[in-house]
Amino acid sequence: MSDSRREPGFRGPLGPMMAPRYMEIPTFMRAPVIEDLSGVDIAMVGVPYDGAVTNRPGARHGPREVRNASSNMRAIHPSTRANPFESCRIGDGGDVPFTRVYEIEGAHEDIEAYFSSIRSAGVFPLAVGGDHSITLPILRALAKDGPVSLIHIDAHTDTWDEFMGSRFCHGAPFRRAVEEGLIDPERTVQIGIRGAQNSIEGWNFSESSGMRVIPMDEFARSGVQAVGEEALRVVGGKPTYLSFDIDSLDPAFAPGTGTPEVGGLTTLQAQELIRMFRGLDLVGADVVEVAPPFDPTGITALAGATMMYELLCILSAAVEARQESA
Ligand code: MN
Ligand code: MN
Repeated sequence: MSDSRREPGFRGPLGPMMAPRYMEIPTFMRAPVIEDLSGVDIAMVGVPYDGAVTNRPGARHGPREVRNASSNMRAIHPSTRANPFESCRIGDGGDVPFTRVYEIEGAHEDIEAYFSSIRSAGVFPLAVGGDHSITLPILRALAKDGPVSLIHIDAHTDTWDEFMGSRFCHGAPFRRAVEEGLIDPERTVQIGIRGAQNSIEGWNFSESSGMRVIPMDEFARSGVQAVGEEALRVVGGKPTYLSFDIDSLDPAFAPGTGTPEVGGLTTLQAQELIRMFRGLDLVGADVVEVAPPFDPTGITALAGATMMYELLCILSAAVEARQESA
């Protein structure tokens, strides 16, 4: 066990992974709380904001429940045998300190400011929402040097335009991200799209902007391997952000979300898909839309924590590869 996991600021006699999992303050993955970003490689950050949901609210409670469920995660990956906590210095960066949480644009500025401070410290973020609108200000913070590639796993394209007077609701972040030059639509893949719509202008925007949309019926026909390979082809080895909406999973596996759509991914398919992205030049990732009020058994928070662990594994591999080539 690397000493690095005791930093920064772990106060106990044992590294957090050494204590029984029901003990101690439930930080993300029981990692140490970050007091100072220097010397940190990856910060896991909560974004408890759901002021931009269009339907059932509750994702503001996501980070706390995912932290709790993430105590069930352990360190060594069952397939790769890699241990992200040994290859990288990983901590819990707390929650975004909001100053204007009850207005969408203000809350988004708070999120952007916090992720900008993380990025300028040379730290890579793994965020937990929160509704999907939070990904836009995260991308604003991370894509300052030009558009990034995007892997977006979701039941919905989230490329709708203005809704009820707002351009920043959780159905719009990736349309805004294209308009603001934060993502390259031709290096964007959207996986798991499904569900009937009252208007298809979101689907139309995705397709006409050049995104590769892989609807759930294509996923079912092609399988994880082919979809993963297609996603890798689309993002083209460029710096890539990965955004995972928990509603990409079938509600049988993740009922606790604001906009559930049946006919989705199994948790195993999602894990296998994320594992295919090991080796990507990942610049950050998020898990969003876990809504604990609709999650009485905690299964959705557990699914969210598990996807977060899978993402942590591929993000730590990317950080390690970058450090080795530097
Ligand atoms: Mn979404
Ligand atoms: Mn969705």
